[in-house]
Amino acid sequence: MASERNRKWLLRARPVGMVKDSDFELVEAELPSPAEGEALVRNRFLAFEPAMRGWMEDRQSYIPPVGIGDVMRGMTVGEVVASRRPDLAPGDLVTAMGGWQEWFAGSFGLQKLAPGTDPTLALSVLGITGLTAWFGMQDLGRPQPGETVVVSGAAGATGSIAGQLARLAGARAIGIAGGPEKCRWLVEDARFDAAIDYKREDVAPRLAELAPGGVHVFFDNVGGAILEAVLERIAERARIVLCGGISGYNLADAPPGPRNLMNLVVRRARMEGFIVIDYAARFPEATATLTREVAAGRLAHRVDVQKGIENAPRTFRRLFAGENLGKQLLQLD
Ligand code: NAP
Repeated sequence: MASERNRKWLLRARPVGMVKDSDFELVEAELPSPAEGEALVRNRFLAFEPAMRGWMEDRQSYIPPVGIGDVMRGMTVGEVVASRRPDLAPGDLVTAMGGWQEWFAGSFGLQKLAPGTDPTLALSVLGITGLTAWFGMQDLGRPQPGETVVVSGAAGATGSIAGQLARLAGARAIGIAGGPEKCRWLVEDARFDAAIDYKREDVAPRLAELAPGGVHVFFDNVGGAILEAVLERIAERARIVLCGGISGYNLADAPPGPRNLMNLVVRRARMEGFIVIDYAARFPEATATLTREVAAGRLAHRVDVQKGIENAPRTFRRLFAGENLGKQLLQLD
């Protein structure tokens, strides 16, 4: 261990458009030493979220921006190597905001995983993206049996779980995703009722075909033109859950919003955004339910594991090219 060094990615510039390798710098440093009350953790998996793009911007948000020169923020699962706190011992696995780096020492937000937990699941279906799907669908979407639910970004980590939760509630789920493989997976493996390939098909007429009675719940991860197309078809009393808007994350100037917001008025619909961390007090309850559903084989899920800390910026870009098949992770050991 004494010969180990910590490789870490520092944010060097506020990106313009898609992130570039030169927006970051990979540096090597001594291993950090844990202070009293802290643990030394070796990160094993780093999770990538589209929202990280917003954390790189110098603007007010639900979380402070990453400072220039700071280690890029990111959720990790790591192994405790040395501990100066009584509740953690070497060998324990912990989730944390361990950052884009191989090692860290700290105490804030460390959550010990139950022995035997698959670390990749703790960062995906049983982690933030599964919880996001859960609270967005259960609390805001509230699908009813027989209703039609549309999910954008449907083959991704959050969208795929959101659509399956709607199906488990007895609703019909239609997914919108990019490419034939993702659409095949949605229907054959995740058991969505239908999928629309927005890269090859015209979304509006396909929705008209697939949802003749209108869309009761729309769980939106994408925004932009897809949001506008679904708004056109909302049913009366529809619930539009604004989870994210990845189509706009790399745009310096957001294009004018959907042209048909008046449909919310005419169809007495509701559109509401949410941030999953506001539900933290209820995470244990939701994680327990998601764990049962996964164990029972009722939630298809997949992770896309790239390798090596040197590939962090490249791995992050995969989210915006739609290259990730499931939750985007980077394995560090
Ligand atoms: P993900 O869906 O696993 O990956 C992102 C996917 O977005 C890509 O695979 C790609 O799929 C799609 N995409 C990329 N650029 C696009 C574009 N221009 N137009 C349409 N689709 C595009 O990622 P995730 O972590 O689950 O996040 C999904 C969404 O949830 C994001 O908007 C994220 O910000 C949001 N989120 C919100 C919260 C919250 O608290 N509100 C928490 C977590 C995540 P295709 O190949 O299908 O294009």
